[in-house]
Amino acid sequence: MNEGHIGLITHSYGRQFIVEIAGISYSAITKSKKTEYVVGDQVIINPINQQQVQIIELLPRHNLIYRTDQNRSKIIASNISQLLIVIAIKPNFNLHFLNSCLLSAEAEQISPIILINKTDLLESTDFIAKINALYAVQLGYKVVCLSALDDCSGLKKLLNNKSSLLIGQSGVGKSTITNQIVPGASTRTARLSKSENSGCHTTTNATLYHINKTSSLIDCPGLQEFGLYHLQLDNLTNLFPEFRQYSNLCKFRNCRHINEPGCAITTAFRTGTIDPERFNLFHNLTCQLQQKLNY
Ligand code: GDP
Ligand code: ZN
Repeated sequence: MNEGHIGLITHSYGRQFIVEIAGISYSAITKSKKTEYVVGDQVIINPINQQQVQIIELLPRHNLIYRTDQNRSKIIASNISQLLIVIAIKPNFNLHFLNSCLLSAEAEQISPIILINKTDLLESTDFIAKINALYAVQLGYKVVCLSALDDCSGLKKLLNNKSSLLIGQSGVGKSTITNQIVPGASTRTARLSKSENSGCHTTTNATLYHINKTSSLIDCPGLQEFGLYHLQLDNLTNLFPEFRQYSNLCKFRNCRHINEPGCAITTAFRTGTIDPERFNLFHNLTCQLQQKLNY
C-alpha cells in the first residue's frame, strides 16, 4: 500500500477506528487527538504496517448525523443517503425520539424512512394507523411496516444503492433487522469490540456493513438521544414540513411563531391542523436555541 491512499471508516469504538482500503480492514491511529472522525468518513491514510494505518486527512463530508451527549451535539456518522428510523409499539414508543430523528434528517437533507417494526404483534394495529395518519398522510414521510422476524425482503429493496443509517431506541429490533440484512453482523461486532481497548465507553460506537458493492448499512447501537443542539434557529421552521405552507403567511416577516400576533403557524396549531406534540417540540427547541444564542 502506498502513501496517500483513500480509505473508508467502517467502525468506530471510542477513539479507535477501522479503515477499509480496497476491501481490506486496518486499525487506524489518528494524527491528532482533537480530530474527530466518524463511520462513513472518507480519509487519506499513510500505511504504518500490515495491520495499521494512520489517518492523515479528512475528505469533505456530504452530511453529518449528530447525537446528544450532556446537552451537546456530537457526530456519529457521515455521508449518509438514507436514515432508517426504527420504531415499535414495544418496549415503549418514544415520540420525541422519532421527531428528533426526523429533524436531524431534515437538517442534513437526508431522506428518512420510518420503519414500524413488530407489526406481527396484534397491539401494533392502532399504532400503525396513528403513525401513518400523521407521518405518512399529513407530513408526507415514507412509512414502512415490518416484522424483523420475517425475512425483511421488502426492506432489502429499499437499501439498494444507498448508504443507510439504522437508528432506533433499544429493544425496537435493530440488531434483529441488521442480522437479517447482513447475516453474521452481530458476531462480527462482538468480535471487533472485544479486540479493542476498553478505555472509553462514553463515545460513539458504530459499524458500517457492506450489503453489496453499492449499498451499505450503518448500525450504531445504544443511541438513546439525537443531537439537536447544533440546529440553526433561523432554519428551524424549514425542518417541519407541515409548517412550510404557513411560514410566508405570518403578519411579521421575522415571526418566530411563538406568541406574535397574526402568526399563521400558531393559528394552524390552535385550529388543530398542526399536531400538538410537534408544535410543542418546535416551541421548546426555539427556546433552547435562543438561550444558547444568548449564553
Ligand atoms: P435492539 O435493541 O433494537 O437491537 O433490538 P433487538 O433486535 O435486540 O430486539 C429486541 C427484542 O425484540 C428481541 O427479543 C427480538 O427477538 C424482538 N423482536 C425484534 N423484531 C421483532 C418483530 O418484528 N416482532 C416481534 N414480535 N419481536 C421482535
Ligand atoms: Zn408565525
